[in-house]
Amino acid sequence: MIIVLKPGLSKKDETEVLREIKKLGYRPHVMRGVERIVVGAIGDERTHPSLEMLASWPQVERVMPVQKRYKLVSREAHKKTSTMTVRGQVIGAKKIQVMAGPCSVEDERQLLTTAHAVKKAGATFLRGGAFKPRTSPYEFQGLGRKGLKLLAKARRETGLAIITEMLSESHAGLVAEYTDIIQIGARNSQNFQLLIAAAKTGKPVLLKRGLSMRIEEWLLAGEYVLSNDNPNLLFCERGIRTFETYTRNTLDLSTIPIIKQESHCPIIIDPSQGAGRAELVAAMCKGAVAMGADGLLIEVHPNPAEAWSDGAQQLTLQGFAQLMEELQPFIAAAGRE
Ligand code: PEP
Ligand code: MN
Repeated sequence: MIIVLKPGLSKKDETEVLREIKKLGYRPHVMRGVERIVVGAIGDERTHPSLEMLASWPQVERVMPVQKRYKLVSREAHKKTSTMTVRGQVIGAKKIQVMAGPCSVEDERQLLTTAHAVKKAGATFLRGGAFKPRTSPYEFQGLGRKGLKLLAKARRETGLAIITEMLSESHAGLVAEYTDIIQIGARNSQNFQLLIAAAKTGKPVLLKRGLSMRIEEWLLAGEYVLSNDNPNLLFCERGIRTFETYTRNTLDLSTIPIIKQESHCPIIIDPSQGAGRAELVAAMCKGAVAMGADGLLIEVHPNPAEAWSDGAQQLTLQGFAQLMEELQPFIAAAGRE
């Protein structure tokens, strides 16, 4: 920690602060400027009391951390970008992984039709919600176990790996039994016990950014996965809530270079929840690919007009196939596959 003292302190005031720093187990390193004194407190903050309370002392102007609060997710901890292999697909390497499928699993025909179509168009993962985090309790909540079974059937038929959301700690065993990647949704991204339960299943975890989550908070949420012995974490930007209402959320593509700078974990972009409007999805995918995203999570439905959730933002099967074609030059230009 860095402690900035107020200007014009008496020797006695200064000594009191230094004594307190030592009392709490840190070694003070005093730097005397022309106007003020800055003290570096050297010691391990994990094993000693926090020095933050010094901010309330009358002698102190500011207390600032030197180290970043996230450690295991940080690029400093791991210089090379992490990759993970899921059913033969490497995430975080050259290939851009496209995870496509309906918002909700509705029935066998809907899911299998979508799975075959997105596979044919080049998707490598099938997405589909079996447990849905709906804003209203009166809306479709997902098929639960039946939905997971349908996802497993679609995987058997197409070979696509599966990603689906886990809503509750009590479902950890059930969801992990079926899925290849566990999705933690935006509404749960700071549900720390859920993050720990997901991490402990040993399955890779895709962590969405919360509706109003700062990047540091997101990185710290990711730290819960890595610090619970699960190295396979994917960050997923899905838009944040701003004053803008034209789009459902504001997709923050600046998170791509920021996550790449701050973390070694791959970053996936979800333009479907981000835009909330199907006609905007293609442009956002192109931007995301150009900016270095490692994957895309895209909602696709055989008949969006009759979807049980998120109809306005889901692409049709043809719309998805067309998008995959349109993306090719962007993927090549970004030096990806
Ligand atoms: C979803 O992927 O359908 C979903 C509910 O996402 P989010 O948690 O980002 O809203
Ligand atoms: Mn959705």
